[in-house]
Amino acid sequence: MAPKSVMSKNKTVAVIGSGLAGASVAHAFRQRGCSVTIIERHADIASEASATPSAVLMPRLTARESTDGTFYAHAWQTLLSLLSEVAKNGTNIGLQQCGVLHLATTEEETARQTAIIQSGALPHSLAKQVSPAEAAGLAGIDLEMGGLHFPDGGTLSPRQFCDALLDGSVVRKKLAAARLERDKDQWRVLDENGAPILQADCIILAGGLDSAVFDQSNWLPLTPRRGQLTRIPSNNVSDTLTCVLAGEGHLTPSRNGQHVIGATFDHVRPEDLGERKPQPERDADSRNVRIVESLVPGLLEATIEAVGESWAGLRCTTRDHLPLAGPLPNQASYLNDFADVKHGHRWTQYPRATYHEGLYVLTGLGAHGAVAAPLAADLIVSQAFGDPLPLPRNIAQALHPGRFIVRDLKRAKN
Ligand SMILES: Cc1cc2nc3c(=O)[nH]c(=O)nc-3n(C[C@H](O)[C@H](O)[C@H](O)COP(=O)(O)OP(=O)(O)OC[C@H]3O[C@@H](n4cnc5c(N)ncnc54)[C@H](O)[C@@H]3O)c2cc1C
Repeated sequence: MAPKSVMSKNKTVAVIGSGLAGASVAHAFRQRGCSVTIIERHADIASEASATPSAVLMPRLTARESTDGTFYAHAWQTLLSLLSEVAKNGTNIGLQQCGVLHLATTEEETARQTAIIQSGALPHSLAKQVSPAEAAGLAGIDLEMGGLHFPDGGTLSPRQFCDALLDGSVVRKKLAAARLERDKDQWRVLDENGAPILQADCIILAGGLDSAVFDQSNWLPLTPRRGQLTRIPSNNVSDTLTCVLAGEGHLTPSRNGQHVIGATFDHVRPEDLGERKPQPERDADSRNVRIVESLVPGLLEATIEAVGESWAGLRCTTRDHLPLAGPLPNQASYLNDFADVKHGHRWTQYPRATYHEGLYVLTGLGAHGAVAAPLAADLIVSQAFGDPLPLPRNIAQALHPGRFIVRDLKRAKN
């Protein structure tokens, strides 16, 4: 399935988008010695989903062995190494590694967490199941339930993280890429008037939902989902909270007298899509408050009426909730070459898959972009260089941008 590798050290890379996806992939290519240019349409980096004021860092694990669980267990360890690397440089990314406690709000959730621990997806030093008493000790507040504790979890500022990861790359702002043209062995990036922006050997589409605006990528099945975070003033009791509490949503420890609670996950109305910046809504704040009430009843009662500033954004999701990371298939060739895949022929009977050479995509990061992006970025760099993959081959296939074309062909009626 893999295309031939196109990269070597002295080749040039252009990344479209400067959010967590673009910044992570830029950093990974820089680590391999490439010169990288970022194209960003806004006046500042990370101005869309990655402008979220804080991102909670915790792995998304599954009770039974699954591609999702395996991907996120690997992604967690990649993120932790990257955070140590960034910390060594002394860059401030707003990181608070205060730990995350995923509360077991029901018996089913306790059983799920027990299964996660028994699966050994993460070593004991990175994930531990704790009793209600241990949970209360870790959180610094009274709690009636235990949970899963991730000692290295916490929060960071995605924009500051992106800024740190973009160190050493050239960032060209206020430029919207609209078209991609192949010019001999390179790609030319053009703006909406057809004026050239730059040429590069390798292009990574990391524009969130708008990774699909190009002729080569307009079939990518991406779905927007609205999300909102709410700030709420702390009180004497909630001020003693020392770690992030998670469940259906999350509550962060207070900073400057404010907790962040969230996040909603909603369908999108057409008016939310304009400029990719939905307006915060009071109803979403109320739902965030209710989520926190279900985790720690009464904790924020005294301040619940004083809901503060909210922030809303759009997540870019996929049908199977895994990112799209890898080489960009030539959709027309895929449809032609694999048309009868539903008949269950052996893969060896098919021609090699056809790709847009030197064109990769990293998007669909959904609700866990800060955790997923660094490993997904490493995957793309290893594919571009023809290096060993940083994760098992079946997981790389589960992230492959062509997977939905093949799945749809398998389900086709005719
Ligand atoms: C309310 C909310 C809460 C969240 N909480 C968490 C959390 O707690 N933890 C977590 O890990 N994740 C969280 N996420 C998810 C996380 O924010 C996203 O997964 C991540 O930011 C996606 O990054 P991205 O780079 O793919 O997209 P974006 O951040 O949207 O970046 C895409 C960039 O590409 C640029 N661009 C697009 N098209 C073009 C073009 N044609 N030319 C030039 N530039 C272009 C855009 O301007 C933008 O800057 C949350 C998201 C939301 C909305």
